[in-house]
Amino acid sequence: MLFRPLYQFPTWLQRLYRGATWRRDAAVYLTFDDGPIPEVTPHILAILREKQVKATFFVVGDNVRKYPELLDQIVSEGHRVGNHTFHHLPGLKTSVAEYMRDVSACDELIHRHSRRKEKPLFRPPYGRIRRSQMRELKNTGYEVILWDVLTHDYNLRYSADKLLQIVQRYTREGSIVVFHDSLKSADRMLTVLPQVIDFWLANGYELKTL
Ligand SMILES: [Zn+2]
Repeated sequence: MLFRPLYQFPTWLQRLYRGATWRRDAAVYLTFDDGPIPEVTPHILAILREKQVKATFFVVGDNVRKYPELLDQIVSEGHRVGNHTFHHLPGLKTSVAEYMRDVSACDELIHRHSRRKEKPLFRPPYGRIRRSQMRELKNTGYEVILWDVLTHDYNLRYSADKLLQIVQRYTREGSIVVFHDSLKSADRMLTVLPQVIDFWLANGYELKTL
């Protein structure tokens, strides 16, 4: 056939128009909930440093109170921090007033360690929240972040291989992926994290902070 349909622009032609946008980066957003803790967070940070990628940490205020130097390290290494309440409160069992007090206690600690530049991020513990709490958070200026891919890294019945399969199967452009910065998840999560990052990079995804 003389004229074949052009499904992909040849690279020589792309080079001719250098500087034009040919493809947008496909981003994924790697997030870690529940830290920071000294047994796990430094290992995550070391992997992110080695792979030269950035992530977002949804921190529990009480952990920041105990280990403020870890939050400093997260921030100074260029990662983003979000609020995950002070006491890891279950929204459905907590009044709006108490919930918001806990959120702002966590916020105060976070902002002792990072400068307030961007819209503050919030992720509800257990991913569950009342509509009234959601409304209040939005009124206070929070962007409420949930997720697209839950790895179940806290589930002791899931092997590292299974976690990798979940990520490989369900990641798509723009996915927000949740891991846990916790003792329960540590073994399998830290085993699989470098492979997960390699998989994304090999598939053309850029890792961005939220
Ligand atoms: Zn949590």
